[in-house]
Amino acid sequence: MSFNLDLLLRENIKNLQAYSSARDEFDGEASVMLDANENAYGSPISQSFNRYPDPLQHAVKQKLSKIKGIAPEHIFLGNGSDEAIDLLFRAFCQPGLDNVILLPPTYGMYEVSANINDVAVRKVNLTPDYQLDIEAIAAAVDGNTKMIFICSPNNPTGNSIRRQDIETVLVNFDGLVVLDEAYINYAKQTSFLADLKEFPNLVVLQTLSKAWGLAALRLGMAFAHPNIIRVFNKIKPPYNINQATQNFALEALENVEVVNEWIRESVAERTLLVERLQDIPQIEHITPSDANFVLVRLERARELYKYLVQQGIIVRDRSTVTLCEGALRMTIGTPKENQILLTKIKEFYT
Ligand SMILES: *Cc1c(COP(=O)(O)O)cnc(C)c1O
Repeated sequence: MSFNLDLLLRENIKNLQAYSSARDEFDGEASVMLDANENAYGSPISQSFNRYPDPLQHAVKQKLSKIKGIAPEHIFLGNGSDEAIDLLFRAFCQPGLDNVILLPPTYGMYEVSANINDVAVRKVNLTPDYQLDIEAIAAAVDGNTKMIFICSPNNPTGNSIRRQDIETVLVNFDGLVVLDEAYINYAKQTSFLADLKEFPNLVVLQTLSKAWGLAALRLGMAFAHPNIIRVFNKIKPPYNINQATQNFALEALENVEVVNEWIRESVAERTLLVERLQDIPQIEHITPSDANFVLVRLERARELYKYLVQQGIIVRDRSTVTLCEGALRMTIGTPKENQILLTKIKEFYT
């Protein structure tokens, strides 16, 4: 393999003179800060937000580094994973020329981001058991293919992609492999974070939006070789993670135990929900899930979806998505919510 980040980068990004903020030029301790045109008098609320936040979020990365067992220079923080996805397109894909490979059925944001950036999408469907079609992926790659997006555990199917297959793609593809691990906390399969050293073309995405219970905070993480992280830092908006988010993230990261307990409970509830769904004759197939949701193929999916909406229960209708025909995606709720869901599904079929 001949991975070369310089060849992958867009010419304008390589030559870019990045914006240098006041906080970039002086980030030490001082008693009189008159360099950033901030309001020196304070903020009109109980907390103080009058100073610009740390553009590189050193404190948050320090704490994440301990939790994840990975050095801070391997970490980028974005306004949700969605920001990292968008920055990847902007850094590496020449609009109207380059292409990326997506593996449907998968997370919809990759395609939207590609379209926004005018980057061609080559779709290689997953196999019927939602694994990688390695040969078809290899056949779809050409000289302008910059990235392959793999989501594991995959949304909306919930299953993990076989580790061996992900490694095969990493080893044989000269572009970036973006591995979205948004649901990794719920998985039996281990994260690829520990393998970053081995694969210079690997970008692992994680988020505080799911297991960490902070979807509204908007904090996504990208882990990669420091050379890739430097590219993110060069092109991101200077203050992309606001001070409130940094403060709350620091507080949240002190509470790993609570989060781990929720993960255990969600996984137990997932097992229970699957067992009870399997007792319903109209349920045709439940994809084994490594995430906090299950994809369920069942009779009259669209009608059931509408019935549940009438009952005030919202699941995700995936019944018209390729390879998910006739299926609904159900997030694991609290024990009480899951019980209500089951009762209403049974009610619909009787
Ligand atoms: C929910 C989800 C995310 C999270 O995106 P954020 O922007 O961090 O909230 C990322 N990837 C997948 C596959 C998801 O399902």
